[in-house]
Amino acid sequence: MQQIPTVARLRPFASTIFAEMTELAVRHGAVNLGQGFPDTDGPASMLEVAERAIADGFNQYPPGRGVPALREAIARDRAARYGTRYDPDSQVLVTVGATEAIAAAILGLVEPGDEVVLIEPYYDSYAAAVALAGATRRTARLVPDGDGFALDLDSLRAAITPKTRLLLLNSPHNPTGTVLSRADLQAIADLVIERDLLVVTDEVYEHLTFDGHEHISISTLPGMYERTVVISSAAKTFSVTGWKIGWACAPEPLLDGVLAAKQFLTFVGGGPFQPAVAHALEHELAWVSSLRDTLSDKRIRLSQALEDAGFGVKRSDGTYFVCADITPLTASDAYAFCRELPERLGVAAVPLTVFADDKDSWSHLVRFTFCKKEETITEGIRRLHAAHATPSH
Ligand SMILES: *Cc1c(COP(=O)(O)O)cnc(C)c1O
Repeated sequence: MQQIPTVARLRPFASTIFAEMTELAVRHGAVNLGQGFPDTDGPASMLEVAERAIADGFNQYPPGRGVPALREAIARDRAARYGTRYDPDSQVLVTVGATEAIAAAILGLVEPGDEVVLIEPYYDSYAAAVALAGATRRTARLVPDGDGFALDLDSLRAAITPKTRLLLLNSPHNPTGTVLSRADLQAIADLVIERDLLVVTDEVYEHLTFDGHEHISISTLPGMYERTVVISSAAKTFSVTGWKIGWACAPEPLLDGVLAAKQFLTFVGGGPFQPAVAHALEHELAWVSSLRDTLSDKRIRLSQALEDAGFGVKRSDGTYFVCADITPLTASDAYAFCRELPERLGVAAVPLTVFADDKDSWSHLVRFTFCKKEETITEGIRRLHAAHATPSH
């Protein structure tokens, strides 16, 4: 039989960089600061609720929109922290991670041929989700701003055409650690309202901001609630990336679109984890604050070590990540540099080119994660310092 290839629209997404970098890290015994998942557990009481749920026979299909206790906890949490009200019965949907919520929002709200605007660099699943929907992606971009990044509003204006249906936003931003300011968000909101677009906002790092930077949800700006799908997840907030419990909140006309797609992607997911995440949203936000403080401290130490090793370190105001400019160290591009890094310095990182269409603009930057346990960060820092003491060529 003739070999049947992957469909054309998914061919560009056949492999991910993370597998390659992890393989290199393992081969060279490198400290893996590439892939952004924590290596410590979330709050103990949350884990116990999940264990009990399994033991108590909570193991069949949960309700299609998610268990009521979790939908109520999500609605209470959004109201308490942002002042936005979502009816748990009709405006909150539990999904298989934020990843499914994003894909379902695009599949359910964007027609084939429509355009979706992403902000470059962007989380890798976004482009694939747009391709799955048969839509076309266009990109606006972040640009260097002081020691960090800011949105290039002109590029956003230029990316919007009469075919644009939706803007997919992410703040706090993976991979750069940028937290969009109120002024940036207001400028985006003005444009989105003027051009009558929908917004999907990926807020999975909503709790993980540093140095007093505040996460502002674009859904809270005037005129935005009715055109915004807010997406978040337990993965990063409660250090359970393997549970895949995410959610979408939106007014009915939008949420109905997300639900229409979601119910035929996975129907439901993570039955016994849902009451556990409900419990964590109600009782473990103090744990999240201490996670944020610990992460912030690791961020500062890793940033300093990268600077000592000669990188041009960017400011990280949120997320799990810090980006570093390799130009002071090498003439090679970020991808080539990251392929050498495990052998050369004994650490692994990810090149920003994998998050961008315009590779040239991002080929001098690499992303390091600081969401690893104390020993891992300390060992990574030790290796960076050792490399500094004996420069290699
Ligand atoms: C980790 C991550 C996700 C995926 O979240 P899940 O709940 O694990 O699906 C989505 N968006 C961004 C920006 C992320 O970093």
